[in-house]
Amino acid sequence: MKSLEAIIATNNKHKLEEIRDMLFDCDITIKSKKDVNLEGLVIVEDGSTFEENATIKAKTVMNLTNSIAIADDSGLEVLALGNRPGVDTAIYAGENATDVENNDKLLRELKDVPYEKRKAKFVCVMVVAFPSGKTLTARGECYGIIALECKGNSGFGFDPLFVIEEYNLTLAELGKDIKNQISHRANALKKLKRVLLDDTRG
Ligand code: IMP
Repeated sequence: MKSLEAIIATNNKHKLEEIRDMLFDCDITIKSKKDVNLEGLVIVEDGSTFEENATIKAKTVMNLTNSIAIADDSGLEVLALGNRPGVDTAIYAGENATDVENNDKLLRELKDVPYEKRKAKFVCVMVVAFPSGKTLTARGECYGIIALECKGNSGFGFDPLFVIEEYNLTLAELGKDIKNQISHRANALKKLKRVLLDDTRG
């Protein structure tokens, strides 16, 4: 893979840290929005799919900096809720809701749903936008069950409620080393690395 510099187009410090950790073996210099003085930039995510929103974020930052930008749009799809909250996960319990408020709302909505019917998946779409106008896209998913109560302190968002069946532990209990091998974000980045490799080989 060619040496390159990329800005991670997110305000979410947890996503930034996970992406940095997972790209440690690539010859890519990672910059945050803060590093390029775009910390306060609010991007309106008015797409109707993860792909559209990730593209909006990556292209906005690429256009403002004329540098390669990588964006992640992600969310939670719960089968018993007809795949909600989906693309609206970030505003599930309201615009400025905390992780605790989001988790509480999910537990309330699922209070009558038995454990075996609480299947869910995390989705992550990563888009790389290049100054040439080209974009590369990769989607990753991670399957789990919504727990009956929050467990664990690691990670962010819905991690304390997302049980990985293979371990019978939540992502928040599993910790970042395992999460960064199996998560939706990890799966999207693995694909993105392959797509980037193919692309740079021409
Ligand atoms: P967005 O990608 O900024 O629109 O927000 C995605 C939302 O999905 C976050 O605010 C979290 O609530 C949730 N989310 C995305 N990825 C994860 C994850 O890895 N763990 C827990 N929650 C996540």
